[in-house]
Amino acid sequence: MDVEALIEGVRTGERRAVARAISAVEDGAPELASLSAGIYERTGRAATVGLTGAPGVGKSTLAAELVRDGRAAGHSMAVLAVDPTSPYTGGALLGDRVRMQDHATDPGVFIRSMATRGHLGGMALAAPEAVRILDAAGYDRVIVETVGVGQAEVDVAAATDTAVVVLAPGLGDAVQMAKAGILEVADVFVVNKADRDGAHEVVRELRQMLHLGAARDWDPPVLATVALQREGIRELWEAVEAHRAHVSDSGALEAKRRARLLREVEALAAERFRATASRVLEGDAALTGDLTARRVDPYRAAAMLVRMAAARDASDT
Ligand code: GDP
Repeated sequence: MDVEALIEGVRTGERRAVARAISAVEDGAPELASLSAGIYERTGRAATVGLTGAPGVGKSTLAAELVRDGRAAGHSMAVLAVDPTSPYTGGALLGDRVRMQDHATDPGVFIRSMATRGHLGGMALAAPEAVRILDAAGYDRVIVETVGVGQAEVDVAAATDTAVVVLAPGLGDAVQMAKAGILEVADVFVVNKADRDGAHEVVRELRQMLHLGAARDWDPPVLATVALQREGIRELWEAVEAHRAHVSDSGALEAKRRARLLREVEALAAERFRATASRVLEGDAALTGDLTARRVDPYRAAAMLVRMAAARDASDT
């Protein structure tokens, strides 16, 4: 892979380069470090929006409609569907998602799904780098759609500027979401499929739960939408923009971005260290022999391993 050409391609917003760069992230390709170094200074401009919720609540439909509003407002839009179980390879468009097809020929829109195949840190570490690639490529709004409501999805959602949590009547109740810690990270709530019975109960239940929580600087609005009919989409777009303006003005956005960068670097360092330590330990017959023969205890062995792995890492780079 010609990394310089790839970097240049991403920086000029060339679609094929963007797609290949994201594939490199998925694969945990060896070129990833150079790629990251080549684009990092170009990042920080895009506003990122997370869309999280149980399968079937309408995230993909909402994303497609938000793209429409974003385009109408003059933004270039990217959608990254983060799906750990995705069988897609190499940047397939979300083919089964009909609405997305409306945008397929628009050069100001980039849509793709992403799975992690080889990236050591899994989704939580792969997603931010993929978002930076889209940011560096010039997309000024990046929607990150996550599939499912587990811890990994909450982490990915929390790593966006504005986290939108989507519910629908009969799908993933609010109590379940509360348990997953999602109420704390949500900046905007959407109850989609408001054309269905039970939607107003979900809205009421959510508002009650939010009311019980600690007072926050920003009160997350609870919006009702019918994505299929575009009802409530404008309000959703406006709520997202209002949240961003609010955190941007208050300094909370800068603090959040800083905190998540530090967490990311810490996690990257930990992953890297774990991989090196594992190699060193496996290859050190003397240490493992001492350990199993009970000449060296596990704590001392760990302390020795930390020093050896750090030295190995330094000599490798
Ligand atoms: P996702 O899995 O969360 O991305 O959900 P999708 O966007 O794929 O939507 C799941 C299904 O719900 C699809 O068949 C959509 O057409 C449908 N759907 C989306 N929004 C609405 C809505 O507001 N009302 C109704 N009745 N159906 C909807």
